[in-house]
Amino acid sequence: MILKGKKALILGVANERSIAWAIAQKFHQEGAEIGLTYLNDKLKSRVELLSQETQSQIFSELDVANDDHFEKLQKEIQKKWGKFDILVHSIAFANKEDLINKTSDTTKEGFLLAHEISVFSLLKSVKFLKNFMNSGGSIITLTYIGSQKVIPNYNVMGIAKAALESSVRYLAYELGEQNIRINALSPSPIKTLAASAIPGFSGLLNSLEEKSPIKDPVKAQDVANVAVFFGSNLSEKVTGQVLLIDSGLSIMGL
Ligand code: NAD
Repeated sequence: MILKGKKALILGVANERSIAWAIAQKFHQEGAEIGLTYLNDKLKSRVELLSQETQSQIFSELDVANDDHFEKLQKEIQKKWGKFDILVHSIAFANKEDLINKTSDTTKEGFLLAHEISVFSLLKSVKFLKNFMNSGGSIITLTYIGSQKVIPNYNVMGIAKAALESSVRYLAYELGEQNIRINALSPSPIKTLAASAIPGFSGLLNSLEEKSPIKDPVKAQDVANVAVFFGSNLSEKVTGQVLLIDSGLSIMGL
């Protein structure tokens, strides 16, 4: 029970396939107290069932574009926990047409939306929540190698993930003062709601196994296992990093 005594707030559970859900389950198994948020009424009942499964003390609506939601979340944390230890940010969104269209055809609105929800939301979460985190706390976000290499149909999201990874480094510098660390986990493709919005995703998934040194595709549970390390005291001197969880795919030149 490596996370016993820790409180973990997890943003980004949409359903039982969400990477955030695998993390919530694993953290719960490892002894952490869990808090979950959900995006909107459409997702509420599904996430509520999951929150019951992990005996979540916090269950709060959070659309990251809505400041009122952040303020309500702060009050909820204050009431139930006072302070907490681990923040998981597992949130991204882009309009489908901005994934399909040529990169140069990305609209200003689509570009800003993808960056607001997928990148600025990390800065905003830190701003609203950092003072509720204990010294020794850990923040974990989720990124993808499309930030560094071209993945067809990832387009604006690749650009946003590059900004997210840079944000992790700047936030790590800022949060070091409070002895809070922040890192990004970068898994290879996993079948989830967000991933299914990427055209050609199934083809991408099939090609990975053949190319990767480890012939076993990455699952949400693999990401959750690594997240336990980043949430635990074992990683207390690791900050500002992006860790690939990709069955070794990124080392291959072919
Ligand atoms: P998912 O669809 O289960 O999770 C995405 C979450 O973002 C959902 O819970 C959704 O409700 C939330 N979200 C979207 N807009 C929001 C908003 N305005 N406010 C608050 N929440 C909002 O899919 P996932 O694959 O688990 O994605 C989680 C993270 O993992 C994302 O950052 C994604 O880019 C990253 N990631 C996924 C893969 C993959 O292949 N699935 C690979 C690498 C990285």
